[in-house]
Amino acid sequence: MATQHVIERPAADAAGTCGLVHGLLEAAAADAPDRPAVRDSTGTWTYAELARASEAFSAWLAARGVRPGDRVLVQLPSSRHLTAMFYGTVRSGAVFVPVNPAMKPFHLRSVAADAEPALVVTDAEGVARMPVVTSAPVHDVTEVWATPDAEPGQAGRAAPPPAVAPADVATLIYTSGSTAAPKAVVCPHSAVVFASEALVDVLGYRPDDVVFCRFPMSWDYGLYKVLMTCIARCEIVLADGESDFRLLRRMRETGVTVVPLVPSLASMIVGLARRDSGARPPVRMFTNTGAALPAATIDALRELFPGAHIVRQYGQTEAKRITVMPVDEELDRPESVGRPLPGTEVLVLDEEGRPLPPGETGEIVAHGPHVMGGYWRNPEATARSFRPCPAGCGMRLHTGDYGSKDEDGYLYFQGRRDDMFKRKGFRMSTVEIEGAALDIPGVRAAAALPPDDRHDLTLFVESDLSSRTVIRELMQRLEVAKVPAECRVLSDFPLTQHGKNSRKELAALLEGSR
Ligand code: ASP
Repeated sequence: MATQHVIERPAADAAGTCGLVHGLLEAAAADAPDRPAVRDSTGTWTYAELARASEAFSAWLAARGVRPGDRVLVQLPSSRHLTAMFYGTVRSGAVFVPVNPAMKPFHLRSVAADAEPALVVTDAEGVARMPVVTSAPVHDVTEVWATPDAEPGQAGRAAPPPAVAPADVATLIYTSGSTAAPKAVVCPHSAVVFASEALVDVLGYRPDDVVFCRFPMSWDYGLYKVLMTCIARCEIVLADGESDFRLLRRMRETGVTVVPLVPSLASMIVGLARRDSGARPPVRMFTNTGAALPAATIDALRELFPGAHIVRQYGQTEAKRITVMPVDEELDRPESVGRPLPGTEVLVLDEEGRPLPPGETGEIVAHGPHVMGGYWRNPEATARSFRPCPAGCGMRLHTGDYGSKDEDGYLYFQGRRDDMFKRKGFRMSTVEIEGAALDIPGVRAAAALPPDDRHDLTLFVESDLSSRTVIRELMQRLEVAKVPAECRVLSDFPLTQHGKNSRKELAALLEGSR
């Protein structure tokens, strides 16, 4: 492996939970019981309170017959209780299956059929719709936490946890694949703990940090914040249910220092901060993943939050995070998404699986202890993406994404396989066209749709500029072959449940107007 990195952590505790997801909470509760751990819109729990609540939830599950390996499906917005349910589920040896609170019965039905949960916990509305979704027992979250032994602060009557091994499955994360069928990434305790610890080290989370989490726990970007704050003994503020307009106020009230972003959230924060005359929240670091931040947004964040670092990253749920730009190097290579996670390596391979030299574009392949355990009950998809390393050293994730590395091992992301195409004799990627569009002052979001037999290369932008102006500006930035045939201007971009640009809806928009 190219990089070897030793993460120093306390030795295994008496319960032998080192390398296990709930072991992270046990260690924090032993080490920093009175530090604030998790805050939602109704209050805060310390690490000791969170640990007690998670034990109480384990006891609640045991009383309902949930056994190691069983799946516990939850559809809830983030809250202190959901955090306790996550740790409590994995502590029981069961598998936590969080689904997006906005997921509709159409998709929920296939997720439930795939996961076959032993039990479902949701809110009152969810309880009403679940009978058409699953025959598993469904519990209202208010009923769960009204049970006296599930109240934090009470000693809890949790039986000693069953033996859980690092290779056991901690969680299934459903990803929105390009097909209608649900696909869950199998996340073993060991890989989740490894990735979380490596991220805390490389990002430098500190005990005095307050991390603002706007994302649901059904997305790994949200879920891992819970683990990373626990490892760093700092506090997480759960804000996925907060109204957009209150975001900045909430960041100020809670004194946030770290804000994980996607581009749509970043531009919302910029817009709010520009109109706000109050004191700025003490943000010291923004992190981004999922899609590139427009240069104009980066500049605006730097201007509005002077001194804050803006960290670019690249990842896939299948290996959590693949690269991170070291925090103090963010200005050196503005086009790069960073270096492999400490203790892992990234390869760029040609069609035959041979490593390519620096500067050449090929498939991005990740290798290391962060590579997850494949797709749940989906051997064909697993065999395509998770392949044994030819030298016999574990599994490698074939991401289906394309990019290149420079001489120093920094990665440059160019797009999904589907984003690469040939036009007028040139090979290109939607990512470079979007990058050029985002460089135009006044363009807030951009998505390019590659040509197919129904339409030529088309660009969507969110902007107040006219499409003529956008095309004219693009002509100054791109070779002629790369300039889209058409540019459509929208006042608001359709977004996915995680705040990424919804290509599906854009494609439908285009189809609908033909
Ligand atoms: N897992 C990715 C990351 O955290 C995010 C994603 O899959 O979109 O970088």
